[in-house]
Amino acid sequence: MSGSNVHKSIIYEFDEWMIKETEFDIKTNFRDETIFTTGNGYIGMRGNFEEGYRGPADTTFKATYINGFYEEYDIEYPEGGYGFPRKGQAMLNVADAKIIIPFIDGERFDLLTGRIHAYERKLDMKRGILVRRITWESPSGKIVEAEIKRLVHFSRPHLAAVSFSLKPVNFDGFFEFVSRIDGRVSNLDESSDFRVGSGLKGRALFSIGKGVDGTGAWLEQRTERSGFFLSCAVEHNLVPGGDAVITGHQAEEELEIRFRVKARRGIACTLFKYISYFTSRDAGREDLVLLARSEVSKAKEDGFALLEAEQEAFLEAFWKDADVVIEGDPAAQQGIRFSMFSLLQSAGRDGKTNIAAKGLTGEGYGGHYFWDSDIYMLPFFIYTRPEIAKALLMHRYRLLDAARERAGELGHRGALYPWRTIDGSECSAFFPAGTAQYHINADIVYAIKRYVEATGDEEFLYGYGAEIAFETARFWVDLGSYIPAKGGKFCINCVTGPDEYTALVDNNAYTNHMAKMNLEFAAKVAERMKRERPEDYRKLLLKIDLQDEEVDEWRRAAENMYLPYSEELGIIPQDDSFLYKKRVTVDRIPEKDFPLLLHWHYLNIYRHQICKQPDVLLLMFLLREKFTLEEIRRNYDYYEPVTTHDSSLSPPVFAALAAELGYYEEAYRYFIWSCRMDLDDYNGNTKDGIHAAAMGGAWLAAVYGFGGLKVFPDGLHFFPALPEKWRCLSFTLKYRGRKLRVRLEREKAFYTLEEGEPLKIHHFGAELSLKPGITVEREMCRAGI
Ligand code: BGC
Repeated sequence: MSGSNVHKSIIYEFDEWMIKETEFDIKTNFRDETIFTTGNGYIGMRGNFEEGYRGPADTTFKATYINGFYEEYDIEYPEGGYGFPRKGQAMLNVADAKIIIPFIDGERFDLLTGRIHAYERKLDMKRGILVRRITWESPSGKIVEAEIKRLVHFSRPHLAAVSFSLKPVNFDGFFEFVSRIDGRVSNLDESSDFRVGSGLKGRALFSIGKGVDGTGAWLEQRTERSGFFLSCAVEHNLVPGGDAVITGHQAEEELEIRFRVKARRGIACTLFKYISYFTSRDAGREDLVLLARSEVSKAKEDGFALLEAEQEAFLEAFWKDADVVIEGDPAAQQGIRFSMFSLLQSAGRDGKTNIAAKGLTGEGYGGHYFWDSDIYMLPFFIYTRPEIAKALLMHRYRLLDAARERAGELGHRGALYPWRTIDGSECSAFFPAGTAQYHINADIVYAIKRYVEATGDEEFLYGYGAEIAFETARFWVDLGSYIPAKGGKFCINCVTGPDEYTALVDNNAYTNHMAKMNLEFAAKVAERMKRERPEDYRKLLLKIDLQDEEVDEWRRAAENMYLPYSEELGIIPQDDSFLYKKRVTVDRIPEKDFPLLLHWHYLNIYRHQICKQPDVLLLMFLLREKFTLEEIRRNYDYYEPVTTHDSSLSPPVFAALAAELGYYEEAYRYFIWSCRMDLDDYNGNTKDGIHAAAMGGAWLAAVYGFGGLKVFPDGLHFFPALPEKWRCLSFTLKYRGRKLRVRLEREKAFYTLEEGEPLKIHHFGAELSLKPGITVEREMCRAGI
């Protein structure tokens, strides 16, 4: 097994449902802020302390994000070129409303002063709540027990809530809680590592309205260039608060409400704070303040306990459908649950947003959406929460006009999706690993195909998916050409495949195979739509000015697609040039050179057979039905030694394929690497945000790899094999209106149809007829296909 990062030490103790720390350490604070993020797909709050953090500036980043809420900036090129994107988009750090600073008889509650007697922070993935319990002694010797809870509400997307409780242990006196909304926020500046932030400089949000009213306050902000507005409102409740003195203060960009109250030994005093955000991407500007204020008033009326109960109920339902249970391996169990929980916290559900590469936990990659969503993260939602998968695909549909425009700008017909974006325009400033990754078009169509296959959602297909498939098919036909020197085959030249360490090549195998899939799918959908929905089909043809002959062109290009193959090596060459380059195996590269992108010039990288991430192997994983196990083995053995895994998208694909190939030890290590990527901080950059694609990939590795799921044209097949220490792996899949539970033990596999009509599946190639409520049991055995 190659790769620079194989063994890592434990950071957070293993616990199946919690992420827990028992010590506060400024050295790891930045990273912990990412891990302890709470979010709901709309709001994301980094795990910053409510009372503030006064440690060194480079050990923290205070932030709250709203999915899809961004500012534009100019991308500056010393040497520009035609079609280079001019404007970038960066997800904004918005007004900080989680601040509650307690004073104990005038002394500020601050973990960097006084003494910490006890400390615990837990992210409870079953209840969706972040809890800190601290016993702290002030510099003058006053001891308090603090319990601070935070939740970002899953079923009220615009709402977050904090409960800050203090109990005097050895004194009577006064508490003062200073609660704020701070509007003076800005994003991180891009550093020398382009993966860390965006090109946005300085402040981007400006306050234009504010108010304090009793126990409530609100702030309205606007962006300068993207033309967006945002409102943030808070409400409070102090318990017991009968004798409290409440005062409000307004500064230019800051609102403050102070609660001064008697502190009695042994009696806890709790400030509840309700926080809401709305933006002009959700509603008209004139309604934003009102909407946020009503949201917090309603929450205050309902109370924190109800919100907690709702959160727990939401998660109970979620885990019932989504949980992957691994018995006998707490590290893997914690890793896979954290992965799924983080995906849920990151996924936009409103059809206007998607999943940023770092979720809502940090500014790495500017809050942009990549192919990561369609290829790595969507499958988890397709099979567990198809309605979220649909919302994510609706976001892709929403970007179709911008994609048509981009194709036109580059001189092509059809649509070209941006490599990275928030709201549709291409934000990648480095075209060899950006615009040239045309495969994103096919990745989106692949996702649509898998979604429709698993859900049977024809309304989506004919209403939206077909249009994307047709416009992207049109694009491929226009991009490629029939090349006489290649036997008149349809070739796609000058592209970059998924492996960003090989750029601007001819006939990248991944791209050609996936484009073929895109063309075939479009042609098939056109044929069926014409037959089954003639009226809708006619309307769509008119809308996009499509001629029937174009569909014939799609078929012709697909049939004649050039698919690279090396008879000599029995493998698929990554592209026309790959085999003519010098091969460097990863074990020959010094450890200090990783990741290569920060230590080698790209030209040097490009002239070697060296991969950042799987390309041919990913193709084989995605179009599994097209390849035999022997073909996969030959390609795996060829590409694995030259893959650096410098992208976090790499290990999960290796885990899934290695499991199928029977390379169990390797499969397990790649799996742990994927599912604990951030918990163990494998790449040393968790502080900049989670690696959401690796988390989606971890689910793929568990379910497709060890669970052995293959989705073939005749339905679901299973070829399971468990890692040695696992007693059991179990998961559920939603499939065509059914819910299938799969439980794999060392000797036996159990398949139960929990909901829906009878279903035929396959276990090691043998057909099983499942009937509702009845468990079918089979021997576990290992066989190849
Ligand atoms: C990977 C891409 C990925 C991007 C965002 C890069 O390092 O090479 O495949 O889309 O990160 O996660």
